[in-house]
Amino acid sequence: MEKRERILVPEPVLKENVWGGNRLVTEFHYKSEGSGYGECWGISAHPHGDCVIAEGEYAGETLSRLYREHRELFGNLKSPEFPLLVKIIDAQDKLSIQVHPDDAYAGTHEDGSLGKTECWYVMDCPEDAELVIGHKAKTREELADMVHQGRYEELVRRVPVKKGDFIQIEPGTIHAITAGLLILETQQSSDVTYRVYDYGRLVDGKPRPIHVEQSIQVANVPDESDKKALKHTQDYAANRLNQLVSCDFYKVWKLKVEGEFSLEQEEPFLLLSVIQGGGFLDGRNIKRGDHLILPAGYGRARFSGDMELILSTAVEK
Ligand code: ZN
Repeated sequence: MEKRERILVPEPVLKENVWGGNRLVTEFHYKSEGSGYGECWGISAHPHGDCVIAEGEYAGETLSRLYREHRELFGNLKSPEFPLLVKIIDAQDKLSIQVHPDDAYAGTHEDGSLGKTECWYVMDCPEDAELVIGHKAKTREELADMVHQGRYEELVRRVPVKKGDFIQIEPGTIHAITAGLLILETQQSSDVTYRVYDYGRLVDGKPRPIHVEQSIQVANVPDESDKKALKHTQDYAANRLNQLVSCDFYKVWKLKVEGEFSLEQEEPFLLLSVIQGGGFLDGRNIKRGDHLILPAGYGRARFSGDMELILSTAVEK
């Protein structure tokens, strides 16, 4: 009974976006008055959307403060800021074609910010969906020429995706989420995006800022990451932790619970997002769209029900 209270429950933060839809409000239980929400920041301590702990001993505290003042809950990690951000993205319209810097570039050019490595789990998508991953320019000069001439359709690589696919996006990879996709994103806690192209869209009558020169500087050239970025997880076995990626910043797993499953929480912390179905975690009713944190030393976590989850933890170099 004591253990159940130690699950940390962050209150999600909804973000309005020009390309956002209404699924986060209609298909999930996220409370909101409006629409046009493109993102639900389910687990975040980023200053642009710092989740408040909803219940228990730390109710009312922001995740950033909890991380600063109770580092023992997070395995005494050295990172000065909570290192990860987990969000659900509902792209009613396509997102800009963009690229993120790595830690070194962001630290120098973006006021000490973290770079952004991110990964996507496709929760839902239209038939024949494609994602933009990588580009076809062979040299940086060719990349600059094609960008300056606006030859984006020729430039970018497109990869077909299905529900249940997983994609790792390294810094420097030109990428875009296309219309109709619902994605669970696990990423470094960073909000630094360089837009290469925004399809000429206007927001409040004005185009959003485009960062052509930064994009050309940080893009990987050549970039064939479309060939190795994608994993198909549809046939992964139930009732085991299936690792999706392990990189310098995070490890991510997919877990499909059928009946009962338990695991020993031995990571610095474990982030959980229920992406399908529902059930129980140590007696707590959980369902699609719930985001939870199992702190350090949590011990055995017992799941039951019929559900799919994405789990992650931070890695320190
Ligand atoms: Zn991105």
